[in-house]
Amino acid sequence: EKYVYSFREGNAEMKNLLGGKGANLAQMVQYGLPVPQGFILTTHACLEYGKDEKFLDGIWGDVVAAMNALEKETGKTFGSGENPLLVSVRSGAPVSMPGMMDTVLNLGLNDESVESLARASSDRRFAFDSYRRFIQMYGNVVHGVNGDAFEEVLEHAKKTLGVTFDNEIPEKDLVEVVAKFKEIFKKSAGFDFPSDPWQQLRNAVVAVFRSWGNPRAVTYRKLHKIPDTYGTAVNIVSMVYGNLGDDCGTGVCFTRNPSDGTKELYGEFLVNAQGEDVVAGIRTPLPIAQLKDAMPAIYDELFEITTNLEKAYKDMQDIEFTIERNKLYILQTRNGKRSAGAAVKIAVDMVNEGLIDKKTAVGRVSPEQVEMLLHRQVDPKAENEVLAKGLPASPGAGVGIVCFDADDAVELAKSGKKVILARPETCPDDIHGLFAAEAIVTSRGGMTSHAAVVARGLGKPCVSGCEDILIDLNKETISKGDRVVRKGDTITVDGSTGRVLIGGAPLKEASFSEDFKTVLSWSDEFARLQVWANGDTPEDARRARSFGAKGIGLCRTEHMFMAADRLPVMQRLVVADSYEERVKALDELKVMQKEDFYGILKEMQGLPVIIRLLDPPLHEFMPKERDLEEELAELVAAGKEHSPEADGVRKVMAKVESLKESNPMLGFRGCRLGIVYPEISAMQASAIFEAVLQLVDEGIDIHPEIMIPLVGVKTEMEFFRKQIDEIAKDYMEKSGKKFSYLVGTMIEVPHAAFVADQIAEHAEFFSFGTNDLTQTTFGYSRDDAEGKFLGHYEDKGILPVNPFHELDRDGVGALMEIAVEKGRKVNPKLSIGICGEHGGNPSSIAFCHAVGLNYVSCSPFRVPVARISAAHAAM
Ligand code: PEP
Ligand code: MG
Repeated sequence: EKYVYSFREGNAEMKNLLGGKGANLAQMVQYGLPVPQGFILTTHACLEYGKDEKFLDGIWGDVVAAMNALEKETGKTFGSGENPLLVSVRSGAPVSMPGMMDTVLNLGLNDESVESLARASSDRRFAFDSYRRFIQMYGNVVHGVNGDAFEEVLEHAKKTLGVTFDNEIPEKDLVEVVAKFKEIFKKSAGFDFPSDPWQQLRNAVVAVFRSWGNPRAVTYRKLHKIPDTYGTAVNIVSMVYGNLGDDCGTGVCFTRNPSDGTKELYGEFLVNAQGEDVVAGIRTPLPIAQLKDAMPAIYDELFEITTNLEKAYKDMQDIEFTIERNKLYILQTRNGKRSAGAAVKIAVDMVNEGLIDKKTAVGRVSPEQVEMLLHRQVDPKAENEVLAKGLPASPGAGVGIVCFDADDAVELAKSGKKVILARPETCPDDIHGLFAAEAIVTSRGGMTSHAAVVARGLGKPCVSGCEDILIDLNKETISKGDRVVRKGDTITVDGSTGRVLIGGAPLKEASFSEDFKTVLSWSDEFARLQVWANGDTPEDARRARSFGAKGIGLCRTEHMFMAADRLPVMQRLVVADSYEERVKALDELKVMQKEDFYGILKEMQGLPVIIRLLDPPLHEFMPKERDLEEELAELVAAGKEHSPEADGVRKVMAKVESLKESNPMLGFRGCRLGIVYPEISAMQASAIFEAVLQLVDEGIDIHPEIMIPLVGVKTEMEFFRKQIDEIAKDYMEKSGKKFSYLVGTMIEVPHAAFVADQIAEHAEFFSFGTNDLTQTTFGYSRDDAEGKFLGHYEDKGILPVNPFHELDRDGVGALMEIAVEKGRKVNPKLSIGICGEHGGNPSSIAFCHAVGLNYVSCSPFRVPVARISAAHAAM
């Protein structure tokens, strides 16, 4: 096997053998570009060395031969003579592991060659500066000499000289620094600094091989799932210098603007400088456009080369270059990192330029980037103090003054103020406050808490579960230790990262460009999963459609009952003693529900709308006990203890008491409500069909589907199926008109998954309610688990991720697979989707694709993220 390759013998396809850096350098040589000459020891050599250190003896002859060839090509002699060849020894793994492994520069310097370098460069200061850098790097990388000792010498020299920067130390002092560096080396390593360049080379190669196994590289690989079996290549490259005078320089450039995607040569350079100087920020680099004036011929050459590199690699390139005495060298090229907006623009432009196809373009825009484009963001340059870190419950950023009460939020917003609503947690009573606020912060609750779900639905930023702050509603303060934020103080909520910042941070606006829409429409061409949206109102439906949703996958009817004008009617329904009283309240509700359904169905004409029957436990519609007690106390104080009003309050209190359950989420909710009170589901079905009939009259194309929540056994499904079909038949007979509708179920409890074949006999569609299914599968309360222990579970590695956020494939996913298989066995045409929060999560969407669902349904604002994720899943 061949273990040593010259750059001329490799190409970009050989990344596994030559490493990323080496393969790209070799490829550039193939293109005839000016790359400093060099050669590569393969990744296999590293692996062989790992097994047996004697291996290096066997191939050392090849290394010497390659070095001799390099001497010939450059016309220099390695580490000696009047024109000494100096090299860099660099690691380069098949996948980029930035900064994880070792590099030595200026190798080949010793007391003799440093003088030759001084003469050849006519710059003794430069030569000794290179020498001291070499001793420092070599000492540290090869022999583990602590870098602090070297830094102390430099600091001391600068202090004595009264200068600030390394590059201000004059030549004669640098000569002394070099002598001191050699002493440090000897003291630490136990022998003299090696002057033999071949010995230096061999030791450096060994050090790079070994750096593959250093703890930080091992950890990095574990984190990024990079196999340990790759190994690193070693690149040995002749040094070029950008700091030999004013006809020299160094820089970094991109073939397109990495912030906005504009097609232009973009970057920075420094005259008479080394690569490190650009990075270290000692001198301010100049924009690349000025290279045109400083060195016009070099600029033209650079422009041509970079343009060709982009064409060859078919992606935006990030290129390092050095100019040595008016000659341009390309040191590295790689695909460049870019902002979300730039990623979209570059992808579309490159398709239009014929450089890449649509599929490649879609693959180059990540769901995270789509997400960023949909929301305002905190400017990454913001320097505001971080008050707290919670869960990134709803993305985007909001700035405003803090208030602690929903009514206050509304009042302040009315007076033109931007407000942030801070609550320990929110409940349906706070909805108007959530609506009025710019953003929401809670100290309790997780990613599926009330605040989180509602905020995502409204597209408002939200940070939930900030457990390390105290939100005191009485004092109206947020505090963390002795840091206190009071009502009226300005804060920033960064829902994308989960941070709460003090003061108003600068924000960047969202951008929904034409290019963005283009990429999303291309996504739909490749996706097999459809993307639907969860929405409760005509406005939600309109928004969902505008973001590209192909249906409403979940309309939670209870949200409609929470509205201010309906809650009292709903409460009358709940406290009703008799069937008659209940029906009276239901009749009133039916009129309002019909209106709701009419609005949504009309908005979604041509597309399916899944309306779910009432789901939450009834106590959620009732006033808080504390409020009732206060109300009663006021009546008593006013001498009305025995009034009908007081009796009314007592009746409600008794009802609230009787509705109490130990485990309400496992209690009297979902389809169980309709089994006990069939008149409730009957009212909802009637409201739907009355809306349907009206729309049929208007000639509007509608596709209503009725969904039963929390079904566990087939008899439940059968019960509702029969009831709904009878009501529908009745409406058709009475009106003499026909309409079509579907009846289906949610799969939210394990039992439903296990008997999905039986349930499918009566259901025309399934929709996985993975919020509840996760809750019931793990036995973790969706309301409390995140704030109480799931964070610790993640920190301690008990769970890799929060299962309410990212679908758990092993358990919840396994149940889904069972349900899909059993359901489709009975009804091969069964339409199956997901409407839990996971429906908007990229990795969960990939799973839904893999198990063969028909669609995912998520909050309207996440529809674009889901569209790109569905396309990626299908690629
Ligand atoms: C679910 O449980 O996943 C679901 C969509 O229903 P809800 O969140 O309303 O309980
Ligand atoms: Mg549910």
